[in-house]
Amino acid sequence: MIRVEDLVVRYGAATALDGVSLTVAAGELVALIGPNGAGKSTLVNALAGLLRPAAGKIRVDGRLALVPEGRHLFTPLTVDDNLRLGAWRAKNRDTGHIYELLPELEPLSRRPAGRLSGGQQQMVALGRALMARPDVLVIDEMSLGLAPLVVRHLADNLRERHRDGLAVLLIEQNARLALELCTRAYVLEAGRIVAEGSAADLAGSPQVAAAYLGLE
Ligand code: ATP
Repeated sequence: MIRVEDLVVRYGAATALDGVSLTVAAGELVALIGPNGAGKSTLVNALAGLLRPAAGKIRVDGRLALVPEGRHLFTPLTVDDNLRLGAWRAKNRDTGHIYELLPELEPLSRRPAGRLSGGQQQMVALGRALMARPDVLVIDEMSLGLAPLVVRHLADNLRERHRDGLAVLLIEQNARLALELCTRAYVLEAGRIVAEGSAADLAGSPQVAAAYLGLE
């Protein structure tokens, strides 16, 4: 569903992505982890078509929806209106299936999105992306600033969706969560993929553990 090959993206003379290749198949949940400045947002923007690569190929099969970092909701509008905006191009704007998937949102449906907690807003952002009935979902920093319990819950919802054949690329600074949730992962450092493999293998790798999982 997503195939990125030898992708190079530059900002002027600075190379932000230096030959990145990755794939996400239908029904796969794949994580991309890496520290600040590794190039994660650059990859998201390239996937979204906002940046033109200097070299390489990006192929996305089917409909892509993006859950952006920082939520980007229309805060004066209600939750329900925000969800509907996710389907502005689709014929069916019924939000019922989103409330089935994210039941916590139903009692909040008439509340302005700006009055919700961070976790609830992130849930609306996820619901809004799912309204477009995407084949491919790219989630940028889902866990940023969210309580672990909320993240866990969102993660469970995603797992459900991924069983439906949705391809999910989770861009995540919280490596522990990403490796728990996803089946495969890539580690991006300074614009290059420095490790890739099954989540279990990466979680067991001393190099990844030392750099990303910390000693808690
Ligand atoms: P973060 O998690 O902090 O957002 P990131 O992994 O998303 O980090 P990017 O934002 O993609 O990393 O940045 C990758 C590199 O490109 C960094 O060195 C950054 O300084 C540089 N960069 C990002 N945007 C620009 C820009 N508009 N102009 C110049 N350099 C940029």
